Amino acid sequence: MLRLTDIKLPLDHADDALPAAICAKLGIGPGALRGYTVFRRGYDARKRGAIALIYTLDVELADEAALLARHAGDRHVQPTPDTGYRFVAQAPARLEHRPIVIGFGPCGLFAALILAQSGFRPIVLERGKAVRERTKDTWDLWRQRHLHPDSNVQFGEGGAGTFSDGKLHSQIRDPLHHGRKVLAEFVKAGAPEEILYVSKPHIGTFRLVTMVENMRGTIEALGGEIRFGQRVDDLLVETDARGERHVRGVRLAGGGELRSDHVVLALGHSARDTFEMLHARGVCVEAKPFSIGFRIEHPQSLIDQARFGPQAGHPILGAADYKLVHHGKDGRSVYSFCMCPGGTVVAATSEPGRVVTNGMSQYSRNERNANAAIVCDIRPADYAPWGEGPLAGIALQRHWESHAYALGGGDYSAPGQRVGDFLAGRASTAFGDVLPSYKPGVHLTDLSTALPDYAVAAIRAAIPAFDRQIRGYALPDAMLTGVETRTSSPVRIRRNDDDLQSLNTRGLYPAGEGAGYAGGILSAAVDGIRVAEAVALSVTSRQAA
Ligand code: FAD
Repeated sequence: MLRLTDIKLPLDHADDALPAAICAKLGIGPGALRGYTVFRRGYDARKRGAIALIYTLDVELADEAALLARHAGDRHVQPTPDTGYRFVAQAPARLEHRPIVIGFGPCGLFAALILAQSGFRPIVLERGKAVRERTKDTWDLWRQRHLHPDSNVQFGEGGAGTFSDGKLHSQIRDPLHHGRKVLAEFVKAGAPEEILYVSKPHIGTFRLVTMVENMRGTIEALGGEIRFGQRVDDLLVETDARGERHVRGVRLAGGGELRSDHVVLALGHSARDTFEMLHARGVCVEAKPFSIGFRIEHPQSLIDQARFGPQAGHPILGAADYKLVHHGKDGRSVYSFCMCPGGTVVAATSEPGRVVTNGMSQYSRNERNANAAIVCDIRPADYAPWGEGPLAGIALQRHWESHAYALGGGDYSAPGQRVGDFLAGRASTAFGDVLPSYKPGVHLTDLSTALPDYAVAAIRAAIPAFDRQIRGYALPDAMLTGVETRTSSPVRIRRNDDDLQSLNTRGLYPAGEGAGYAGGILSAAVDGIRVAEAVALSVTSRQAA
């Protein structure tokens, strides 16, 4: 099979334009083309009046070798790479140690799936509830202002991305095509088939819930176990005669212990209590940069018009997204993050007395507003006023989330402000045309004290700059809500590059977003696969020894 890249066709091309374009590209007649599949379909919207579709195609031909030779040197005609997944090890017939996976977000889910598929019968410990019950608890905060600290947007089956837009693109380096395995498993579990080929796939909240349940069923059918309501509160660690530390198992919040020499930490970025425990247990943890800011909401129609012009509303394009960056003169960058076309802003705290924003959408992306975080980068040197050491970033997050709770009126409403008022430095007193979607509600105020001064100044400078890229971005009635503090983990749990075990605790595998090795559903899932492979290799080599 040959892979052709960069095949451009107009947005409204006819079905037979694709085989015609293949034949034209390769200089062959229709009889030589045996078949083709679309590997990827993206679009180029730089010219709004002439948006083009860009295809990557896998084609079957009568004489591939001859055609490849004829097009030698053309990087757009290459052999199709083998992207199939290969398991690195199978569990021994008599498995002595079942690995433990802590956390059942995308990272833990894929770590457990790969381990289960290769016979290791993992035990997953998840502090939150199964996804249906978790959904009810999450809505309890959104509707009734009642937070469940272990069952919410951050915690529970499916992890942080369950109530999300389900965007699945990532810019990670993925030489072994693990991302393909993730997408293929998602499709098996019920995701729309198009995620395999559209350039910016998304799933939406509704389907994610069912998919997560289906994947749990697969893991269980293969002998894995998922135990909900099991918060890991401590690690069992032994030091050997050479002074090397080894994990021997975990202690649960209820007091029970579970022994294993292989423990995957797939905790997510909000497991603050667990980070504290790991640090206290001497596991190597360090502070890491992340970003803070607000959510911004515009009418989706404004974004569609700005991005697609006369083609706005075209069914292939769907609701428009955007990605913006502004590098300020003081060295701070402000960028858009986790953009949710046609979605809603959600209450995403996992701790009582705090307010955190994030965004989600359904597959259809047909809500009135577009939302995105606009966030400013912060570094460990910025954490000093709030604390010291590896956990200082958490202290900073807690400070601003508590402050947002107070600014919002102390009932889980988010503090909000019209963009025009924010730029002019005056408090908002009335909503304009853009009504904020955050539930349980928005309390109008002045957001100039809602973040450190440098972050407020950087975002004030960035919004007019973004308006030059997306006309209308600085719309005075656009809405800001805050605060957006959980953009990525404030810590990194250090691990070796080769065997992916903790730098100073053998058998412990820091993984996914919470450990600082992923940022998003796809990259967390890919990291889960990598860590599962490392565990599988370690278990088999130990048993063979
Ligand atoms: P998590 O998904 O956070 O999972 C960690 C799990 O560990 C949780 O279920 C938690 O309950 C459990 N846990 C924590 N501590 C313990 C403990 N001590 N004992 C037992 N269990 C524990 N990313 C995208 O790519 N696209 C999107 O569209 C997108 N939208 C998002 C929308 C929202 C509202 C949120 C909150 C996040 C969104 N993200 C999105 C980010 C994405 O969800 C995360 O990057 C991803 O979930 C990280 O995966 P993870 O498995 O590393 O951690």
